[in-house]
Amino acid sequence: MRIPRSHPRYWSLVTREKLVEGLREGIVVPQGLIAHGRGECFDYLLGETTIPPALKAIRAAAAALLLARNPVISVNGNVAALAARHVVELAKATGAKIEVNLFHWSLDRAKRIARHLTAVGAERVLGLEDARPAIPGLDHPRARASPEGILSADVVLVALEDGDRTQALRRMGKIVIAIDLNPLSRTARTASITIVDNIVRALPRLVDAVNELRRLRREELEAILKSYDNDAVLREVVDYIASRLRELASRRLALEPG
Ligand code: ATP
Repeated sequence: MRIPRSHPRYWSLVTREKLVEGLREGIVVPQGLIAHGRGECFDYLLGETTIPPALKAIRAAAAALLLARNPVISVNGNVAALAARHVVELAKATGAKIEVNLFHWSLDRAKRIARHLTAVGAERVLGLEDARPAIPGLDHPRARASPEGILSADVVLVALEDGDRTQALRRMGKIVIAIDLNPLSRTARTASITIVDNIVRALPRLVDAVNELRRLRREELEAILKSYDNDAVLREVVDYIASRLRELASRRLALEPG
């Protein structure tokens, strides 16, 4: 469906269309649409913008990716449908590998996602026949990991993820960067660095931050990581939402017609 640019919710509707298209192409599953709905609700509370604590997290995430020995970007159906191009850009900017990881797994779906990524420039996509159930403590298909990718990674970027795998990856000693609009989710609270922002805004900003920070020395990047406090950043996000709601509560909320 063509959405008129003049529509007040243009970007939100374009994003929904991408997911619906992904559903038709067998990339997104119906459950992914529900997960997106949860995200949209939190995005509304943030004011559909990248807020200052998210910028702090983006900077720390860029430092972690630049310092990583074997960084991996984990991609599921929603991530592929919404942000394939940006995933590829980030992989190129950081030398990260790209790996498909799905809760509702089938080789056919994983291959469709890999083709979708290859079509926008990915050179190689892991997580197909190379992956095996290897992440301890998970008894669903998300335990699958590629020995060359997530299994041996030191830094893993996950987005629109459920909490179990984030916890399991942390238990394996990995640095986990999460992009999640819900600051209260288990993923958000377990990750090492949580970017509370919409993936469609966060990834381009992360690419910019990587390109800006790459001129820094290793020690300077390490200092950024060392001074980063994820718990404090999550509290800042909740505080931001609370202040915004208090501010809105003090205003007249009714819109004039037309
Ligand atoms: P957890 O297990 O971590 O508590 P959950 O059960 O909410 O999380 P899911 O429903 O599997 O996990 O994951 C979807 C998550 O992704 C939600 O937290 C939702 O807020 C977030 N999300 C959905 N769409 C987006 C988006 N476009 N950008 C960033 N985050 C999103």
